Amino acid sequence: MAVDLGKVAKAKGIEYFLISFVDLFGVLRAKLVPARAIKGMQEEGAGFAGFASWLDMTPAHPDMFGVPDPDSLIQLPWKPEIGWLAADLWMNGEPVAASPRVALKNQLARAEKKGYRIKTGVECEYFLTSADGSQLADSQDTQTKPCYDQQALMRRYPVIKAICDAMLDMEWNPYQNDHEDANGQFEMNWDYDDALKTADRHVFFKYMTKTIAEMHDLRATFMPKPFADLTGNGCHAHVSAWNKGGTKNLFLDKKDPQELGLSPLAYQFLGGIVHNAEALTAIFNPTVNSYKRINGSITRSGASWAPNTVTYSGNNRTHMIRVPDDGRFELRLMDGASNPYLMQAGFIAAGLDGVDSDRKPGKPYFNNMYEDPAAAKGAKKLPLNLLDAIRLLDKSKTLRASLGDDLVDAYVKLKMQDWRAYSAHLSDWERDNTLDC
Ligand SMILES: [Mg+2]
Repeated sequence: MAVDLGKVAKAKGIEYFLISFVDLFGVLRAKLVPARAIKGMQEEGAGFAGFASWLDMTPAHPDMFGVPDPDSLIQLPWKPEIGWLAADLWMNGEPVAASPRVALKNQLARAEKKGYRIKTGVECEYFLTSADGSQLADSQDTQTKPCYDQQALMRRYPVIKAICDAMLDMEWNPYQNDHEDANGQFEMNWDYDDALKTADRHVFFKYMTKTIAEMHDLRATFMPKPFADLTGNGCHAHVSAWNKGGTKNLFLDKKDPQELGLSPLAYQFLGGIVHNAEALTAIFNPTVNSYKRINGSITRSGASWAPNTVTYSGNNRTHMIRVPDDGRFELRLMDGASNPYLMQAGFIAAGLDGVDSDRKPGKPYFNNMYEDPAAAKGAKKLPLNLLDAIRLLDKSKTLRASLGDDLVDAYVKLKMQDWRAYSAHLSDWERDNTLDC
């Protein structure tokens, strides 16, 4: 093996390893392994019962093994005796195709075969709430337009600093932290990088932020729309494709006739995402709650900052895709519940479909979609709820061909269970509106 984690443990003072995986619903699961046992785990993987997590497996399935990726090792900045490792799931000597990290690696291998090295960055918005999640943590954070509010940001300095210091320690190159558009909402940005590295960091960022919030008797939530009248938690991603050596941005073209600084390859990639967007919504917006963010009404601040149609634009935040700068685009559809691996697997699969099928994204729109949606008349609308989105994914021949039937079938099956559980829930709204029928 290239890296001997036992030796790394001795050199770095690591006493325990967390061997972690993310299931199809984005839940982070792990075994805590003493350093003395890491050699065997590195060779064989840590054993798990697949049915006990959100994967499409039964109690009769054999052991599933989480094989740690040594490149993903992070020594917890707040508890350096623990080393965190992202793992790939294996069963019967094969990678589990219907598991998120394997799915992303499969799409990256497809991209690599074509000569593309995908680089991404993510913007993970979150709220800080009371420990039970029922209310915002800061009762003084009440402005109608609270975005960038310095006073509210600095009341949370101890938490923000602890998270940002950790990112500095881990050399993620964090560069800014702010109060976002909703009361109690924050965003912290670090440098973009290779897609798998960004996905692993995205997973770790959520774990770290929740943990550090708990240390301050708070709760961090990435829930798409935890408060009805406030802006929801987006998880925007910035995407570009580079040559193998990472020296040339293949999405960059200063001579773009549309003056967005994008190459023909970037437009094909965009075309694939536009073509597959409605079905991808099941992955990008994976919970019942997600649909209260997209298609949502105007929030207290005056805008939802979330898209409702499948459109792209220049530096304009009212569309699904924004081109903020030459050589990259920002996908604004995803929310805080989207699975860090599956969301990237989804847009890379769609982008490669765009390249293979030479798909055109249509023309960009430059209108304000919130105030003047008629200017984009004819643009495709996003699904209105999770059920519609799941059905579209289930029917998508293109995404089935690229993501694989194993993954799509497993995802659709489990998400349909989720939808049925929600439908069976009798709400106060129903009683309020139906008792006197
Ligand atoms: Mg933001």
